[in-house]
Amino acid sequence: MITLRVDGRAWRAHQRRVLAATPGLVPVAKGNGYGFGVTTLAAEAQSLGVDALCVGTAGEVRYVRPVFDGDIVVLEPWRPGNREASALVGDPRVVLTVSRVGDLAPLVELAGGERPRVLVEVLTSMRRFGISAERLAEIAGLLRGVDLVGWTLHLPMPTGDGNAAEVERLAKAADSVRAAPIWVSHVTSGDAARLRATLFTEVRHRVGTQLWLGGTAKRQVTATVLDVHPVSRGDRIGYWQRGVPMDGHVVVVSGGTAHGIALEAPTAARTLRQRAVSFATGSMEAVGLALSPFTVQGAKRWFVEPPHMQASMVFLPGKVRPPHVGDEVEVEVRLTTATVDRVVLE
Ligand SMILES: *Cc1c(COP(=O)(O)O)cnc(C)c1O
Repeated sequence: MITLRVDGRAWRAHQRRVLAATPGLVPVAKGNGYGFGVTTLAAEAQSLGVDALCVGTAGEVRYVRPVFDGDIVVLEPWRPGNREASALVGDPRVVLTVSRVGDLAPLVELAGGERPRVLVEVLTSMRRFGISAERLAEIAGLLRGVDLVGWTLHLPMPTGDGNAAEVERLAKAADSVRAAPIWVSHVTSGDAARLRATLFTEVRHRVGTQLWLGGTAKRQVTATVLDVHPVSRGDRIGYWQRGVPMDGHVVVVSGGTAHGIALEAPTAARTLRQRAVSFATGSMEAVGLALSPFTVQGAKRWFVEPPHMQASMVFLPGKVRPPHVGDEVEVEVRLTTATVDRVVLE
């Protein structure tokens, strides 16, 4: 079992600070839920009392709906033919994103007389999704068929002067087609406030990383020790039956590729001569081992071989006393790529 433990009080205090500093906050809970899972984050958003939550894809709506009462915004733009997203058209709690001129008419048709709730995305310097500012006028008529919840802008990470000038230019272009709230991400609170003041419009501010992973709340990820075996130098072990470089123990720990753990492949130094060198120097890397993210008995340990689906084999050299089955060892993961089995708020 891979467990993410968080100091819940500190984490929630941080969330409330972000909420207070971010008028119009809309939390983003998508993908792996920043390590916590989208359902956990949706429950946090519910406690925060916000009226809207963003998910990444149509498929994620079902994981947040049971625990979050407000509007659920799907960030990935709707496309004709996407069945999962199309099934949400007309759902009163769901707001879909439209990012191409040509997608509005088929969406309206699909809604069959209802006015689907949509955000229309304006293309920014990100160049990911959106209708370019020059083409926004083309959709003025089509907007009559939808319930326009707002215009949405997804900006690059702010550098130097931030994104203020771009946001203002694009928001003005959109506002001149139809006045509606402006939804943004990656702008400073100051820039959002200026936008509110210049356009006299509501500004909604999407935040993910800073809300869930910012602050100083203590977070720790651990793996359960599943088994321990003594091994002797030269024993062949694992799927690939590599020889172990010296006496010691192989420790089988929870956590593998399914958890997003350490995908880098070990080096391929497998010839006898390379082994001989490594025996002489004691270098694990030279025998084709890669350093694992697992800390066992005080040090990061080497993988015996690439991680398996749900477990990994690491090598504990020499006389280091092995851990017990059931012990928890620390594992270093990036929370935006990890999938944990359990989240514990302490
Ligand atoms: C992921 C995402 C966000 C949140 O980004 P963070 O950097 O995690 O705050 C906001 N808006 C859109 C459209 C996104 O896809």
